[in-house]
Amino acid sequence: MLGFVIAVPGVDWYIKKYHSLQEQQLLLENHRLTRQWNKTQQQLQLLSTQLDSLNWKDDHHYRALLDLPPLPAEMREAGVGGSKRADEGNENIPLISGSFELLNKLNHKLTVALQSFEQIEEATHKKNQMLATRPAIQPINNRDLTTLHLTFGTRLHPIFNSYMDHKGLDLSARFGTPVYSTADGRVSMAYHSGSYGNVVFIDHGFGFETRYAHLQKFAVKAGNFVKRGEVIGYVGNTGISVAPHLHYEVYFQDKAVNPIHFFQRDLKPSEYQKIIQSPISKP
Ligand SMILES: [Zn+2]
Repeated sequence: MLGFVIAVPGVDWYIKKYHSLQEQQLLLENHRLTRQWNKTQQQLQLLSTQLDSLNWKDDHHYRALLDLPPLPAEMREAGVGGSKRADEGNENIPLISGSFELLNKLNHKLTVALQSFEQIEEATHKKNQMLATRPAIQPINNRDLTTLHLTFGTRLHPIFNSYMDHKGLDLSARFGTPVYSTADGRVSMAYHSGSYGNVVFIDHGFGFETRYAHLQKFAVKAGNFVKRGEVIGYVGNTGISVAPHLHYEVYFQDKAVNPIHFFQRDLKPSEYQKIIQSPISKP
């Protein structure tokens, strides 16, 4: 009896202190899995931080460059809600439920980031279209250009001998020199006018129009779509003109603007500065 009284708590103490071999293996396995899960969670946290940094760049650089407003933080951070939790049944295990919460947030942030990238893609496409339709080159190659007369504004007219408003630049070149469209667009008119002579009007959209006058002959007709750098005609002396040259005009929202400001692509910054500072040369 005494032996029994001593033995029962002894066996109980022994069982509590020393687990069975199977239990010990399970404990080890559990320990290993917990460690592994912790590492996975750390990786998830790292991914989340990297995604936050990518989103910051998206808001402050990529979207800003395209004039898109940054996405509100609450939109990027909002919880998923409504959907069935993937960790159902494990809500009481902080390590597991914490990881799933992190995964849900990551999933949401990625979905919002993808939507933002789609907006960026659309805005980039539009911007590229806008840039292609903005006059950005000289209508005559520098190699063929004899003189660039900076005649925009009021000037003494060489034929009428009175001061008149001159809405463009005169680019002297030999007869037959190719004249290029300075941006993508649609030829709205190609006809003979008393003053312009043979003239091409190109509508570039987004408020821009260019005009090319005194042409010897046309290389396009009304309705044609042209690319920047495409030949649209050849230098001549038609209309009111005293020597072969191209009279070139740029309009923005129906107002004539100085074409020299759209030549940057063909000029080095120093050349551009020199031209805009030099006195008006007479044709
Ligand atoms: Zn002119």
